[in-house]
Amino acid sequence: MGVVMTRSGSTTRKALVIGCGVAGPAVAIALRRIGLDVVLHEAWPEPDALTGGWLNVMPNGRRVLHMLGVTTQLDTEFRCERISFRDHRGKYLAEIPTPGALSVRRGFLHRVLRERAAQQGVRVRFGKRLIDVHDAPDSVTAEFADHTSDEGDLLVGCDGLRSRVRESIMPEAPRFRYTGFISTIGFCHTTSHAPTNSALEMAFGLRTSIRYFIRESGEVSWACDAIVPPEPGRTEPAEIAEEDWRQRLIADFAGDFSPAVEFITTTPTITRHPIYRLGALDDWHRGRACLVGDAAHAIPPHAGQGASMALEDAVTLAKCLRDVPDTGAAFAAYQRIRQPRQARVAAAARGNGRSLGARNLVGRWIRSRMIPIGLRRSAAEARWMNDYEIDWEEPVIAGS
Ligand SMILES: Cc1cc2nc3c(=O)[nH]c(=O)nc-3n(C[C@H](O)[C@H](O)[C@H](O)COP(=O)(O)OP(=O)(O)OC[C@H]3O[C@@H](n4cnc5c(N)ncnc54)[C@H](O)[C@@H]3O)c2cc1C
Repeated sequence: MGVVMTRSGSTTRKALVIGCGVAGPAVAIALRRIGLDVVLHEAWPEPDALTGGWLNVMPNGRRVLHMLGVTTQLDTEFRCERISFRDHRGKYLAEIPTPGALSVRRGFLHRVLRERAAQQGVRVRFGKRLIDVHDAPDSVTAEFADHTSDEGDLLVGCDGLRSRVRESIMPEAPRFRYTGFISTIGFCHTTSHAPTNSALEMAFGLRTSIRYFIRESGEVSWACDAIVPPEPGRTEPAEIAEEDWRQRLIADFAGDFSPAVEFITTTPTITRHPIYRLGALDDWHRGRACLVGDAAHAIPPHAGQGASMALEDAVTLAKCLRDVPDTGAAFAAYQRIRQPRQARVAAAARGNGRSLGARNLVGRWIRSRMIPIGLRRSAAEARWMNDYEIDWEEPVIAGS
């Protein structure tokens, strides 16, 4: 790596990372590994505000967590060795092996990553809601809502779907759009269903679907996707009271042979998440700032890959900044390496989302037949996503 001069003339570059979800601390850890001085700025006032829900980290994402040094901390989480598909009658359809995948509580994953970042010397600042980015020839400044600012040699926007960094550096970028799905996530306890033994169960229903796993203790984590088409003239789905939403879901699952109704009924608090996607951006970077994770490419969760894509982005960006001395050229290399894979994963997520939407008899018949055939015929389809491995040692060459 060539010598890189910084704002202050020293050889240590300072990176400002905005957002402390999944991508932010992962980027911060990876940038520390290549010797950058890193400050992580998060909008929430305190760490405990970052809780809620669970998500799957697929084998590709798990490998990145291992590279970042956070494997053992997640040992308490659910090991998801396969995803098992059933139809609305409970009939087994197919299975995808996902060796090494984890189903983790989101808040816990955030905490483990954040603590690892702090341990590696990253300065983590809460209560720092970014409102603007000012790019200058030899520095970049982040301006925060609390009237403070911070200056660095480069800035990485890890501030998610509604990224303020993206709005600030590329105001012409497409807006995110509501997809017509609302996910609901819950945790409950069951004594009437057996543990799922390292399997994530995915049950397609007559109107909607549920995915869940049950631990040995009877603790259940579940999520379902209700179809709520966008209303003309509205860009966001209407608000709805929690109890009304619970009743709507119970009605959606009526007639299905799955534990959905029990889980929905016995979950103390259900949380509702409209699903959005971001249209493809032409650029993932501008000047001294670049975007990582959902800020660059939010996809629906139907491939279970959003967090894993953010993790892959993080180490790839660090490799590029390690090997390509010019920051702009390093950002360009990062986009060139990541964009084709991300586009392919986004297409897979959209395809999976379409199969959830099979609401009529013909659609369900096709789905029941296509899923086993599709999965059998191309185990490769799941493998190209899950088997992806980043070689940290392999050098990145600018422009190649
Ligand atoms: C219902 C649902 C289920 C999902 N399930 C899965 C799954 O099973 N597997 C999977 O891989 N992915 C899943 N995803 C997608 C996954 O959650 C995202 O892809 C992932 O969280 C992206 O990480 P990120 O760090 O880029 O963004 P985020 O996790 O959104 O983190 C962004 C961070 O930036 C902070 N921030 C925002 N604005 C500012 C600002 N102005 N200033 C400072 N900080 C700011 C936020 O507070 C937050 O901490 C799911 C998504 C949803 C909605």
